[in-house]
Amino acid sequence: METNTPGNYLNSLNDVQRQAVTTIDGPVLVVAGPGSGKTRVLTYRIAHIIQQGTAPWAIMALTFTNKAAREMKERIGKVVGPQADKVWAGTFHSIFARILRVEAEKIGYPSNFTIYDTDDTKSLIGTILQEMHLDRNVYNPNTVRSRISSAKSNLITPRLYAQNEELRNQDRMAKMPQIYDIYEKYVVRCKRAGAMDFDDLLYRLYELLQTNPDNILEKYRSRFTHFLVDEFQDTNHLQYSIIRKLVNFDNSPRNICVVGDDAQSIYAFRGATIQNILDFEADFKPFNIRVFKLEQNYRSTDHIVQAANVLIQNNSRQIPKKIWSDKGEGHKIKVLEAITDNEEGKRVIDTIVEQKNRFHLSNSDIVVLYRTNSQSRIFEEYLRRFNLAYKVYGGQSFYQRKEVKDLIAYLRLVVNMKDEEALRRVINYPKRGIGQTTVEKIGELAAATNRTMWECLLEVQAGARTANALTGFKEMIVKANAQLDTSDAYELAVHMAKQSGLLDDLKADTSIEGLSRKENVDGLLDAIKSFVDEDTVIDTQTLPDKSLATYLQNIALLTDADENADQRDFITLMSIHSAKGLEFKSVFVTGLEEKLFPSYLSMENAEGMDEERRLFYVAVTRAEQFLTLSYAKNRYRFGQMRINDPSRFLGEIPRQHLESTAYIRTGGEEAAVSTMSRVMGNFQKRTSASSPVLRADPKDFKPSASENIQAGMKVLHLKFGEGKVISIDGGKDNRIATIHFQDIDAPERRIMLKFAKLQILE
Ligand code: ATP
Ligand code: MG
Repeated sequence: METNTPGNYLNSLNDVQRQAVTTIDGPVLVVAGPGSGKTRVLTYRIAHIIQQGTAPWAIMALTFTNKAAREMKERIGKVVGPQADKVWAGTFHSIFARILRVEAEKIGYPSNFTIYDTDDTKSLIGTILQEMHLDRNVYNPNTVRSRISSAKSNLITPRLYAQNEELRNQDRMAKMPQIYDIYEKYVVRCKRAGAMDFDDLLYRLYELLQTNPDNILEKYRSRFTHFLVDEFQDTNHLQYSIIRKLVNFDNSPRNICVVGDDAQSIYAFRGATIQNILDFEADFKPFNIRVFKLEQNYRSTDHIVQAANVLIQNNSRQIPKKIWSDKGEGHKIKVLEAITDNEEGKRVIDTIVEQKNRFHLSNSDIVVLYRTNSQSRIFEEYLRRFNLAYKVYGGQSFYQRKEVKDLIAYLRLVVNMKDEEALRRVINYPKRGIGQTTVEKIGELAAATNRTMWECLLEVQAGARTANALTGFKEMIVKANAQLDTSDAYELAVHMAKQSGLLDDLKADTSIEGLSRKENVDGLLDAIKSFVDEDTVIDTQTLPDKSLATYLQNIALLTDADENADQRDFITLMSIHSAKGLEFKSVFVTGLEEKLFPSYLSMENAEGMDEERRLFYVAVTRAEQFLTLSYAKNRYRFGQMRINDPSRFLGEIPRQHLESTAYIRTGGEEAAVSTMSRVMGNFQKRTSASSPVLRADPKDFKPSASENIQAGMKVLHLKFGEGKVISIDGGKDNRIATIHFQDIDAPERRIMLKFAKLQILE
């Protein structure tokens, strides 16, 4: 944490840092590991430049997130006071948009141009597809969008695209030969609408500077005298090209300082590579670049630093670095092994509570990190249960996400057809040809006659196609509603996800964002599944209720919980990608399982694996004092309970840095696992006394029909293992078995057979 007062800032730097801060003439590169003070150098350098007499508005500092930019301004403010606000510090997109606002007219845009977000872009592409009579199922708007986006990021104009045989061939192979044409139309339409998408904010600025070298480029070159870039390893080609123009690379470059760590490059998929830093050094060599290497880590205690050092050695290519810490050994790294994802949530939150009590941590000292956004749900649920304040970053809270809300809206409608908000939300999503005008008419009629929209659904005047669509929609909901008494929540949810077309719509989208949306819906389905599968044991008279209505009631209470925005002291939940550059006293890295982290998407090649490892490295090095790694042996994914091997990354951390001595069998030993006998009764061994154990392998578990279960039989239960049915009582629909399970502490359990999953052994 920063503790400096103005004036003494140079004293709170080590020698190398101080040199990097005070060498303000000529290009400077700082390559250094995490926590070594790169961002501090950048920040103090800005303060120093101002103190040396440069106007704050002549300084441009580029970062990756708004949060990072805000923090930087705050830190500069501590040294130079309110002048800090005048520094042009922000994300690439926000700073470039600021210039474009002033200059837009020079490239044919109004100065109040609109910025299209992803949804706008998608919908425009949809319209174009329609006009071109192209099938959306073939030309998925999101796939088209990412093709256009990557063309722009590589400075490929529609004209160049059309001439580029390699790209055209790729499109033909993907059965989308017309992309070049869509791209051209898209660009024309955006421009006609006075709109720029996110990529345009870079692309158009480049165009502006390129086509107006004398007036505009010169103007900005003389305005900005100092440039600084944090996290330089993650800049893409287009961003670097713009920077090179602004610093007047070809003549006498202005002062530029970039800081970065190749081992933390985590956006290779956006076109950023490890090469950036090497290129920068080579590019600026003729201009007497000064390169500084920082080696002392001021963030983390020694176990954490050493563990990070060792694990990153497994990557093939890197700039060699030594990193050390004098913060003392500190606490060893804790590993939490859980039987299920649900239990992982519980154990993580238990550990948080324990740390808060024992070490007096505040909520804001704590972060829970995950590889995919859909993992946040379980932690959110337990944090709510324990009444701990939290905030989900880099994405909305799980239940606020559009795709999750969409499916829930369908389910609400099935349960209560009067639910007007749900109806409005899904009546035409996925698109089924019920236009906005029709929806408005229904709404008006309902209001005029004091009825619900549902009742008026088929009464409005509409063309034949719309009328059909309305009937189809209504029937779909009515049919599902009729199943409420016979199906459980999960069956109905899966039914609706499919029937509504929602799943297909998401599946068709193969972009990275699309995959994550699909994952979120899968995450919701998995949550419903685990609700349905929850303990079948009855200790009291209350019967478990698996109905959809009950599920919705449960989560409505969750979604209604106030997020309490003005509360400051909250636990942070975020994906590892958004944690870049940040630090916390206590860090939880969760879901350390093969195929989740490292992600199954990157297991095919060595580069993908290296990138995952850099991501893990970033995660681990956020921790100042406490690092906890967790994994679940079984996780609901894609509608099934899956068995996972612990992540290979766990095995890469030397034992001496780990608190637990439990043997972790990692992904490297996959072969041994897959040949493991599949015969029933091949029980997993208890590895830690405190955690409950799944006593049967879910892969091999085949529950028998409950009516066949009789007294005297030997049966198997997933959690309780083998047992003997002692007696059965209760009537036809309410048969309750008393079973003696040999391997558990309180062996005698009464189980409601209707809901139980038991396999008859003999
Ligand atoms: P990352 O690679 O994760 O972005 P970084 O290299 O940017 O890390 P900083 O965030 O600048 O590292 O610094 C890490 C922590 O160490 C911060 O809390 C910072 O204030 C502190 N720090 C840096 N240099 C010093 C120093 N010379 N003396 C005391 N604390 C320092
Ligand atoms: Mg940093």
